[in-house]
Amino acid sequence: MWQRERDQMVERQIACRGVTDARVLDAMRQVPRHAFVPPESVDCAHDDRAMPIGQGQTISQPYMVAVMTQLLELEPTDRVLEIGTGSGYQAAMLAMLAREVISVERVPLLAEAARQRLHALGYENVVVVVGDGTLGCREYAPYDAIIVTAGGPFVPETLKTQLALDGRFVCPVGPREVQHLAVIRRTATGFQETASIGCVFVPLIGAEGWPEDAKDEG
Ligand code: SAH
Repeated sequence: MWQRERDQMVERQIACRGVTDARVLDAMRQVPRHAFVPPESVDCAHDDRAMPIGQGQTISQPYMVAVMTQLLELEPTDRVLEIGTGSGYQAAMLAMLAREVISVERVPLLAEAARQRLHALGYENVVVVVGDGTLGCREYAPYDAIIVTAGGPFVPETLKTQLALDGRFVCPVGPREVQHLAVIRRTATGFQETASIGCVFVPLIGAEGWPEDAKDEG
C-alpha cells in the first residue's frame, strides 16, 4: 500500500540529490517507513523532513538516513553500532544491509517501543540496548561501522576505540543549532577524518556528548 510513496520518496528526495549506492536505494524502497512514525503522522511519513516521535525526539529526514547509510559503505558481513535508536527506522535500514546491528538508546520508553516494532516487522538481527551510547557498547565491539544519529559537541573518543580496522564512523558534530557529518575511518596508522554535509539533529546527551541539564535549552 505504501510502495508508491516509498518509490517516489527515493526518486524525488534521494536519488536526485546524489545518493547512488544501489543497495541503499533499494533498502529505502523496502523498509516500511510508515510503520516507524506515530499513527497520526502516517500520511506524512514520507515527507522530506524529520518528524516527532515523542519524548522530544525525531525520526530523521529520509535523505539524511540515506546519506549517512551510504557513507557507512556497509558490507553484508558487517557488524554495526548505532547510537540513538529513536523509532528504529535507521536500525531497520542497517539491518537490511549488514549482518548484525547493535543500537543504543538512552530513553528506555523509546528503546522498548523500537524493540517491539523491529521484532513485529521481522528484523531479527537488531539488538536494542538502553544506555549512554556516547560510551558505545563494549560487549559487541569492535564494529565495522558506527553511526550516531544525534548531534554532539565533538566526536566521542570512546566510539573511535570501538571501531574495527578499516571501520567507518559517521557522526553529526557541531553547535546545538546546526552540525555537519564527521566521517572517520580507522586505518592501520590511526584515524582519517573528513567533513560531509551540514545537518540538524536532536542533541546527543551523555558522558561524551552534551550535559543532561542543557537538554531543554534553545
Ligand atoms: N535513528 C533514529 C533517530 C533518532 S533521534 C530513527 O531512525 O528514528 C536521536 C535519538 O538519540 C533519540 O531517540 C535520543 O533519545 C537518542 N540519544 C541522545 N543521546 C543519546 C545517547 N547518549 N545514547 C543513546 N541515545 C541517545
